[in-house]
Amino acid sequence: MSTDCIFCKIIKGDIPSKKFHEDDEVIAFNDIRPIAPVHFMIVPKLHVESLADCDAVHRDLLGRILLLVPKLAKEQGLNGFRTMINTGHEGGQEVFHLHVHVFGGGQTLPKT
Ligand code: AMP
Ligand code: ZN
Repeated sequence: MSTDCIFCKIIKGDIPSKKFHEDDEVIAFNDIRPIAPVHFMIVPKLHVESLADCDAVHRDLLGRILLLVPKLAKEQGLNGFRTMINTGHEGGQEVFHLHVHVFGGGQTLPKT
């Protein structure tokens, strides 16, 4: 828990979110500024700043998050999806609490 972290506040329930999944280690909620018809984030309850701050200790957590991606995507009505992890300022990261974006719906996403 980091007191000035917006995602920690969402996890704690101090800031509202469109949360649709919660278990003992992660939550998932819709992005407030969606870039696709369906756009949500999977967020560990543990405050880790970014993927670059993960090590072997986080292996199970990272595996758990990735395995949740197709499950939650299907539950949200996606047949295919894109997964994105922005890392560091140069990687476009704005919120420094590890999260995996999942988005899709509507039309085939352009090639990156
Ligand atoms: P990133 O660039 O990967 O750090 O993305 C952070 C994402 O968090 C952005 O897509 C924001 O739209 C999203 N975001 C910021 N604040 C909130 C919030 N209160 N609820 C939901 N999503 C948020
Ligand atoms: Zn946090």
